[in-house]
Amino acid sequence: MTQFNTGLDLVIEQLTAQKRLLHREPSASPVFLEKLLQGTSKTLSPASATRSSLQLPTPPPMVVNFLTTGSKSERMDALRAIALPCTKCPHLAASRTQVVFGIGNLEARLMFVGEAPGEEEDLQGEPFVGKAGQLLTKMVGAMGLQRDDIYIANVLKCRPDMPPGKSGNRKPLASEMATCLPYLLEQIDIIRPEVIVGLGATAAEGLIGATNPMRELRGQWLNLQGIPLIITYHPAYLLRNQATSEKRKVWEDLLLVMEKLALPISEKQRNFFTK
Ligand code: URA
Repeated sequence: MTQFNTGLDLVIEQLTAQKRLLHREPSASPVFLEKLLQGTSKTLSPASATRSSLQLPTPPPMVVNFLTTGSKSERMDALRAIALPCTKCPHLAASRTQVVFGIGNLEARLMFVGEAPGEEEDLQGEPFVGKAGQLLTKMVGAMGLQRDDIYIANVLKCRPDMPPGKSGNRKPLASEMATCLPYLLEQIDIIRPEVIVGLGATAAEGLIGATNPMRELRGQWLNLQGIPLIITYHPAYLLRNQATSEKRKVWEDLLLVMEKLALPISEKQRNFFTK
């Protein structure tokens, strides 16, 4: 009973902190709510998920019948088989080259989550392979890790479509992210990384519904399904803004990640981007 009470206190403390930070009631994903409700006789309707927890513009279709038994690779293969032919957003299914599912080590201790595939990712079928991806690979290398050590996925698995004749990328819609989120939450549930890094404000919105500015979100530990989550600037932001001060902020966030994972940190690493 004492352990239960301690656990309950920790949960309440965490939810209170989230409420303070996000300026609204904490939200829970449909998949997570469904798991909580499995112990009761209740079922979850999309409408109640929308009203009571997720502040979604449109109720997402419920996808809760993913494989919950088997090895990590069996579960991930089953999930991939469901996600690759997904047509829940018909406009994205029509415009994409392919679904960009996610890639990396199923035993990863560290998972990076971006917003959505860009043009290059859409063509190659792998997240973070364009210019921002190359910078992410360098950032991971600076931490003493390789891409093979980590898992990388996006909140949205399809490239957001652009109006005819327009190039570039657009921000995913909240409704698109909400529709796609169950896939990402399932990836997280399969990998169970020790730390998740959310890249940029859009990833933060998709992951935890936070619309706060980055300066409020970054540099602190949040929590996603019991996993420590940190939000930092998207590598594309660093490509646009080359100021050392911004690189330092991202590096400070990554140092927090290295500390959390008890990775070795040299003096040189500690002092990157300090004058
Ligand atoms: N930006 C993202 O957020 N994800 C990618 O996969 C590529 C660029």
